[in-house]
Amino acid sequence: MVIAFLVAFVLFYLWHVMGVTIGYHRLLSHRSFRCWKIVEYFWVLGGYLAFEGSPIWWATIHRAHHRYTDLPADPHSPRYGWMQAYYGWIFHSKYPDHISPESQAKDLVNDPVYRFLEQNGNWHAAHILAVSIGILFRIALLIFVGWPIALASLAAGVLVQQVPLLLNVVCHLPKLGYKNYQTGEDSVNVWWVALLTAGEGWHNNHHAFPGSARSGFRWFEIDPSWLMIRLMKLCGFVGWVHEESSDSAYKMTLLEAKPNS
Ligand SMILES: [Zn+2]
Ligand SMILES: [Zn+2]
Repeated sequence: MVIAFLVAFVLFYLWHVMGVTIGYHRLLSHRSFRCWKIVEYFWVLGGYLAFEGSPIWWATIHRAHHRYTDLPADPHSPRYGWMQAYYGWIFHSKYPDHISPESQAKDLVNDPVYRFLEQNGNWHAAHILAVSIGILFRIALLIFVGWPIALASLAAGVLVQQVPLLLNVVCHLPKLGYKNYQTGEDSVNVWWVALLTAGEGWHNNHHAFPGSARSGFRWFEIDPSWLMIRLMKLCGFVGWVHEESSDSAYKMTLLEAKPNS
């Protein structure tokens, strides 16, 4: 029982966390690689079942975060209050006037699955739908494969739901990490967030090169999500990939920003 729980927990955690990092973030929000639609849905489903909410909503808010990073228009900058940046912003009922999927996520609004999950931009309805589908999924697991697997999936999903929210705060508090690049805002790299998020904690690198499917650049900046994207490319599931390597990223830094070290 315990072994089944632990194995299932690790597998579900990887699917859910990479559902966020690979599916919601690097693919839908940044289009940093191209893949088969079935591969896209596989990862996005992993994120959705971790209570991440509507994919259109997530990508729209995240693109706005990159556009207005740590400015008053940023949806979740800790400069304007930690609790608001961590959880408070989620409970708004609709998009603020300067953010909308029609202008910031035009490439996603025509997908019928994502449009259904978006619930016409009604945040509360979309969140209730995501939580309901997440709970129904665990009830189905409970009925068909038993409680250790269902509980492992629920625990992994709830934990992964917290991880990007935590990242939004921790990786924008300069005291808690380091910068490779002077990006003009507060983003920092935090190793333990990278560990929990399968590579997303190299957040200063990501803000310097948001279009890159790879976020870990230095030898110790291990980026499991990037390794998974490479593996998928090797297997033929992924086609074009935009990669900034440590060399090219460093060279671009010399041209576009001042490196810190
Ligand atoms: Zn950020
Ligand atoms: Zn991003």
